[in-house]
Amino acid sequence: MVFEGLAEKLQNTLSKLKGKGKVSEKDVAEAMREVKLALLEADVNFKVVKDFINKVKERAVGSDVLESLTPGQQIIKIVNEELTALMGTTQSKLTFASKPPTIIMMVGLQGAGKTTTSGKLAKMLKKQGKRPLLVAGDIYRPAAIKQLQVVGGQVDVPVFTLGDQTSPVEIAKAALEHANKNGNDVMLVDTAGRLHIDEALMEELQNIKSAIKPHEILLVVDSMTGQDAVNVAQHFNDQLGVDGVILTKLDGDTRGGAALSVRAVTNKPIKFAALGEKLDDLEPFHPDRMASRILGMGDVLSLIEKAQANFDEKKAKELEKKIKSQSFTFEDFLDQLQQVQSMGPISQLLEMIPGAGKQLKGMEVNEKELLHIQAIIQSMTREERINPSVLNASRRKRIAAGSGTSVQQVNRLIKQFEQTRKMMKQFTDMEKSMKKGGKFK
Ligand code: GDP
Repeated sequence: MVFEGLAEKLQNTLSKLKGKGKVSEKDVAEAMREVKLALLEADVNFKVVKDFINKVKERAVGSDVLESLTPGQQIIKIVNEELTALMGTTQSKLTFASKPPTIIMMVGLQGAGKTTTSGKLAKMLKKQGKRPLLVAGDIYRPAAIKQLQVVGGQVDVPVFTLGDQTSPVEIAKAALEHANKNGNDVMLVDTAGRLHIDEALMEELQNIKSAIKPHEILLVVDSMTGQDAVNVAQHFNDQLGVDGVILTKLDGDTRGGAALSVRAVTNKPIKFAALGEKLDDLEPFHPDRMASRILGMGDVLSLIEKAQANFDEKKAKELEKKIKSQSFTFEDFLDQLQQVQSMGPISQLLEMIPGAGKQLKGMEVNEKELLHIQAIIQSMTREERINPSVLNASRRKRIAAGSGTSVQQVNRLIKQFEQTRKMMKQFTDMEKSMKKGGKFK
């Protein structure tokens, strides 16, 4: 979960305030002491923490907050606002060139996630109707070119390479020509990284920068590296100048401090957050939504956007029709299941629902169960999926064996499915009779 430890501590501290009818200055001081510790433990930069606490304290005791009817809530609102400000206030989008191609240069240390993130970004841009080109500019790391080609293949985006014997500057220039010729309107240049910052690397990146004049230099930062991530960001920004940051591995068991400090220390916006190894796991970074997630207020907007991006509207309409005409089958069920799964791990989705993160903590979201259901349906023949009434005992036994589940599991699923179908029928019948009776217009 994103910022798990930090979120839990902040939520605990603030919920103590929330319940109070009266909040004294002493209560605020005590709460802020706890917030400060939580932030430091999450590896947020010391100076950033100090400024943050001072701002919140000042606002909390300075105005009429403590005299208001809901002082606790007001303080939570202030913390939310300041947390949002810390991460940049508003979403910062990519700048596209008025004359294509837009050139994006991906930089960062080795292992930060440049290659993977280039693929994710290419996929996202393609979904938005762009024609991206991936450029293999890392000629040093063994297999870096191959890795980009594999990623490019998975997202169906062409990869430009001249092998590992041409200099990255020449590769970048040739790639630009290629993009111009082939109508690629965005060019994503994957560059080399090192384990540590070194002069030779910086010089090479500066040379590429002067040769192709990128519209965006995006620094890819591994958020698991804590304070180091902040130092790296500062260094890259001083030496090369970056336009934005992409935080990767926010899905890991990270303390998250990097996300909260990078913006404040470098003054460069966080443009995207990567929350997993899959090529769909990239989100535009919204400071306000992230703050809400950390404070357990949920992020319904991101959830809706995720659903919209993953659900096919035409399919949804068809489904509605099927439900109404009662021809909903196991085939449709499987389709739905796969669509939900394509949105990412269920636990990550639940986190976006207000209050759910905390409530559901400790509850194992049973992704395995979903896999079982999927396997059971996949072991059915087409006839069985469409007409489950043919599922006699021997067929059920065969399905259990085929899907690696038990007959009880198969029985349970079929029963649930039939109940759902019955419920759908009742709903549609009810709707019909209401319409007839003129109650619904
Ligand atoms: P590069 O050296 O900067 O090009 O880094 P890579 O793209 O090769 O990524 C290094 C490793 O981090 C790979 O194993 C990736 O699968 C993994 N990785 C990248 N982004 C994420 C992320 O957001 N979450 C997780 N869990 N792993 C990631």
